[in-house]
Amino acid sequence: MGILVQKFGGTSLSTPQAREHVIRHVKRELGSGYSLVIVVSAMGRRGEPYATDTLLDLAVQNGDALADREKDLLMCCGEIISATTLCGLLEQEGIPATVLTGAQAGFLTDSSYGNARILDVRPERVLRELREQKVVIVTGFQGQTEAGDFTTLGRGGSDTSATALGAALRADMVDIYTDVNGILTADPRIVEDARPLTYVSYTEICNMAHQGAKVIHPRAVEIAMQAQIPVRVRSTFSELEGTLVTNPEGFNDVQAGIVDRFVTGIAYVSNITQISVECPDGNGTGVQLQIFKGMANNGISVDFINVTPTEALYTVMDDKSEKAIAALQEMGLRPKSLSGCAKVSVIGGGINGVPGIMARIVEALSTQNIQILQSADSNTTIWVLVKKEDMVQSLRALHTEFELHR
Ligand code: ASP
Ligand code: MG
Repeated sequence: MGILVQKFGGTSLSTPQAREHVIRHVKRELGSGYSLVIVVSAMGRRGEPYATDTLLDLAVQNGDALADREKDLLMCCGEIISATTLCGLLEQEGIPATVLTGAQAGFLTDSSYGNARILDVRPERVLRELREQKVVIVTGFQGQTEAGDFTTLGRGGSDTSATALGAALRADMVDIYTDVNGILTADPRIVEDARPLTYVSYTEICNMAHQGAKVIHPRAVEIAMQAQIPVRVRSTFSELEGTLVTNPEGFNDVQAGIVDRFVTGIAYVSNITQISVECPDGNGTGVQLQIFKGMANNGISVDFINVTPTEALYTVMDDKSEKAIAALQEMGLRPKSLSGCAKVSVIGGGINGVPGIMARIVEALSTQNIQILQSADSNTTIWVLVKKEDMVQSLRALHTEFELHR
């Protein structure tokens, strides 16, 4: 049998009861003969004693004068606490285990503290411990620079640790354990009949993750996709297998039939401002350049971009809109803006080249009197911009239209 990487998130480790579930998953996979590498994140959420945000609050309480390098050292503590706690529990169960920090597990990063990029993963030490028949527990979210300083990989980075390690170890699979039963067709807080998906492709989940379905970090999926390692997103609190994330070819052992779906899920991002700027006759190109350079110089990220010779139409997040409008006015332009919009995504690897998908979207929304303010599409996604007050109804209407509750 090969190597299995299991990643446990904060809520999976925060209470003794939750940790019992973790032990159950560890025992089951050891029983199937896997060599196990476990990646952990810090326990719990803000306010709980060892959560990453709690540690950060501590730094702020002390005047927020702590340099980025030292802040990373502080943030590394959360994962070290989780890892050693779990190690103690495994030993108590008679399961030989050892803890490795990000550095010891071979994560070499650049020195962008707080958001470091992985340069290389050198897992020799992990492999050595596995050969000694140990379960290797690795602190997620961490790395080390060439100079030996501790770094962190950016918030939510322990998913990235898990898939990067999975890739370096050529693992059979990376299991991301969380508190939901996998990846759902839509946000269950909004769409009541949203249901867990049996499988999704890497591309679909990347789109879903970027569009607000926050169960797995998109960067982690990107790495798994490059290395072609299958990922399962599943719940710590059940025995269900959750959602398999892989290439469509990897779906073969999934029941035939469902592979043929068009649409996989519906996602959303809210608090968006739509900006439109008319380009005076004959000077479209010059004005376009001025607009987008202006946004870049102000550090404003633009999205949903639609440029024609006479108009530039795009969106920014609501909290950046004032700055964006001011910058445009300073250039002597007269922007129009509409804040409080939401971007709704219809995602599906099967929509490419299929006639009628957009027609169904327009019909589903227009019968509810929802106005589409703007739209765009890619191979696997169609986006529509709607007013925020129409968002909930849009998500529900599209979920029903594409029969995602089935
Ligand atoms: N503990 C880190 C964070 O809260 C990393 C993670 O949980 O993925 O961002
Ligand atoms: Mg996370």
